[in-house]
Amino acid sequence: MLVNLREDDELIHLEKTMSDALEIISSGIRDSKYVVAFTGSGISAECGIPTYRGTDGLWKKYNPSIYANISYFLQDPSYYWNFFREVRYPLLKKAKPGKGHLALAEMEADGILRTVITQNIDGLHQEAGSSSVIELHGTTKVIFCMNCSHEYSMDEAYALLMDRCPPLCPECQGNLRPAVVFFGESLDPQVLRAAFQETGKCDFLLVVGSSLVVHPASEIPVAAKKKEASLAIINKERTALDHLADAVIHEEAGRILPQIVQNLKK
Ligand code: NAD
Repeated sequence: MLVNLREDDELIHLEKTMSDALEIISSGIRDSKYVVAFTGSGISAECGIPTYRGTDGLWKKYNPSIYANISYFLQDPSYYWNFFREVRYPLLKKAKPGKGHLALAEMEADGILRTVITQNIDGLHQEAGSSSVIELHGTTKVIFCMNCSHEYSMDEAYALLMDRCPPLCPECQGNLRPAVVFFGESLDPQVLRAAFQETGKCDFLLVVGSSLVVHPASEIPVAAKKKEASLAIINKERTALDHLADAVIHEEAGRILPQIVQNLKK
């Protein structure tokens, strides 16, 4: 169990017991007025959805410059749609919210957590019961026509895909795409603005399951620190911003978050 504590602007690395570490983060949350969570694919790894970059990351098998790049998608969407049919759809159909998602939803219901800002595109925070969710990278759960903008569910898109790859819009024969932000595309400025507004308001940012290397998402913890919010990171491995955090726990989200919820109920 690694805990970093920042005292008088000096980062002190301490070996602490699990309960010490949990209490440090829980009391920080308890003393804060506006708590925001920032999540990444690690929180969904426990639900069977692989991360991109971890040891078993998806990008080890699927090249992101083919499967997640907008130029490639526009040139030949069939690669993405094969990936959707073989990998994305079956994983998302099976996945249920994990202990980490449920703990954050409970923190919101208990009036402790204001918003979840997520890089994930799997909709599991909403399924867990979180109502204030900002999806920085969009969602795979909505598919829309690039010609007439008609929207389809994942199931509808999958059914169309069974008939034809790449699938076409039944309304106008336009090309379909998922409502996600591909590499090479900009984030929706309104969504990004909402995320930075929440970050600007928060006095405690709880980062969960992100390597914190994807920009501009990784600017969120940096912006929170600039506003003098406390920053806690719960991630299985080291992240790119551990050095900025007031407390870091290298552990699984589903193991730590429910215990924080229990501590906060005491
Ligand atoms: P990332 O793959 O860069 O990093 C994930 C981090 O999670 C790793 O550092 C890993 O150590 C950690 N991790 C793995 N299992 C964990 C667990 N059980 N508990 C805590 N931490 C755990 O992912 P990222 O930082 O979210 O990168 C961002 C990109 O990945 C985003 O663009 C996002 O859209 C995309 N993505 C989303 C999903 C999803 O929606 N579920 C899945 C894969 C990738």
